[in-house]
Amino acid sequence: MSQHLSDIDIAQQCVMEPIDAIAAKLGIGDDDLEHYGKYKAKVSFDLWERIRGNDDGKLILVTAITPTPAGEGKTTTSVGLAQGLARLGKKTTLALREPSLGPVFGVKGGAAGGGYSQVVPMEDINIHFTGDIHAITAAHNLLAAMVDNSLQQGNELNIDPRRVVLRRVMDMNDRALRNIVIGLGGKAQGVPRENGFDITVASEVMAILCLASGISDLKERLARIIVAYTYDDRPVTAGDLGAPGAMAMLLKDALKPNLVQTLEGVPAFIHGGPFANIAHGCNSVMATKYGLKLADYFVTEAGFAADLGAEKFLDIKCRLAGLKPDAVVIVATVRALKMHGGMAKERLGELDMEALAAGIPNLEKHIENIKGFGLPVVVAVNAFPTDRPEELALVEEKCRALGAPVALSEVWAKGGEGGLDLARKVIAACDEPKAFHFLYDADLPPKEKMRAIATKIYGADDIAFTDQAEKDLKTVSALGLDGLLVCMAKTQASLSDDPAKKGRPRNFTVTVREVRIAAGAGFLVAVTGSIMTMPGLPKRPAALAIDVDEKGRVSGLF
Ligand code: ADP
Ligand code: MG
Repeated sequence: MSQHLSDIDIAQQCVMEPIDAIAAKLGIGDDDLEHYGKYKAKVSFDLWERIRGNDDGKLILVTAITPTPAGEGKTTTSVGLAQGLARLGKKTTLALREPSLGPVFGVKGGAAGGGYSQVVPMEDINIHFTGDIHAITAAHNLLAAMVDNSLQQGNELNIDPRRVVLRRVMDMNDRALRNIVIGLGGKAQGVPRENGFDITVASEVMAILCLASGISDLKERLARIIVAYTYDDRPVTAGDLGAPGAMAMLLKDALKPNLVQTLEGVPAFIHGGPFANIAHGCNSVMATKYGLKLADYFVTEAGFAADLGAEKFLDIKCRLAGLKPDAVVIVATVRALKMHGGMAKERLGELDMEALAAGIPNLEKHIENIKGFGLPVVVAVNAFPTDRPEELALVEEKCRALGAPVALSEVWAKGGEGGLDLARKVIAACDEPKAFHFLYDADLPPKEKMRAIATKIYGADDIAFTDQAEKDLKTVSALGLDGLLVCMAKTQASLSDDPAKKGRPRNFTVTVREVRIAAGAGFLVAVTGSIMTMPGLPKRPAALAIDVDEKGRVSGLF
């Protein structure tokens, strides 16, 4: 098995099974499939009625240590683990986020896993796919157009054009659209005002689609989106504008989970992909619920590291959807741990037990945090060729001391075969007794909820609020929204709110600079740094390497 092949080469060599055959593995018949070509399908709402009485399978969350430029491999590990479980004869499925186009042409590249642990058809999954992201863009921009139309047509709702909080969205990294002026050109062209674009996955409509339990819930959530404030400080919602029906119409198919397969033919749902900073960063509740009812083991991934993705998965998604996880996998790499221990990126291939030992506290903190939720942890060391036995032994020893089993995961190089040990340990963890509980009580005042996350999960001594954040929190209270959950928007590069602090930072205070309201999604966004909602392209965008030939064969996509 060559390790020199790129992800796209490996994906294109895969002989895929027709999607009907994949669906049949989960007992999904043809009537419940809506085909998008040979290898992609959406599953019907009717299917839910047939499976809702089934027992839930085991819910396994894959998360990671604090990411470094060395890379962790959560998606790769999720796919590989699912393939490993399937090889052990377990009825398995997984759910991942739907990739956004932005990163495809920017720096990150694809989001469909890597090596011999990918979901396919990877080109389709990374571009357009089944059109969900287009539908979200359209629904969001319909609402934006209705706001400006309301201003134009006599402003019945008394909207203050300086206080429209809804921006526009598109699925592309384009920094030139971050701040714009619209409505120029005279009376017939609208009311001039400042506006701007976010990338579609940052839209509250994306977060809502991912949390909605069905069409009615979707409409209720859309109706609660706050789009603007009036001249006398009252919120104006999508419901006030009469938009939810038409928005939901645009989203009716996007709400249905998409089914594809892994390189080894394991059924995989790819559905919904909200940002992991200003939103909760995991795939749709719908895909998770279908997956749990259809399989005995269900694997899913949360964005960024465990302090962000896993905390939000557990405190927001599990709470809102009534889910109870059975085990959590924390992905780590020896390379990244050495970076947390102060080693320079260029030297990561060298042996340095001191740097490794100095970086391990980052992993320890994430293990402690997950255990604090009452859940069993398995550490997956995502293997790189440069790893040495003594390095792996040290990681294992430290994790053992914290009561976390460790498995070397070779799923990138070997597919499911490289994930058997991990799969066995995850199965054992699922059978352990557990007492899952949330980190904070939703009834606590917003500041106390934020304080709980900052002190208990990040390890901060305290939390501080800027004047702007205090002002925002007063608005939240005045609107009667103190009961919303909290979604922290923090750098993923550190356990603290300072990206430069590696390892396990201590003696720091987290500062909340601003609090945004996502009333439809159901959370307050506590912004702790400068958070980018419209990325730009790098100096040499990945787009430069991408091409397609006469036969439609794609190249250069990572
Ligand atoms: P995450 O989900 O944590 O962002 P991914 O699983 O998407 O990470 O992996 C990021 C990149 O790293 C992918 O291009 C993948 O091919 C690569 N990668 C992951 N694991 C390995 C590994 N063990 N060896 C080499 N490359 C890897
Ligand atoms: Mg990922």
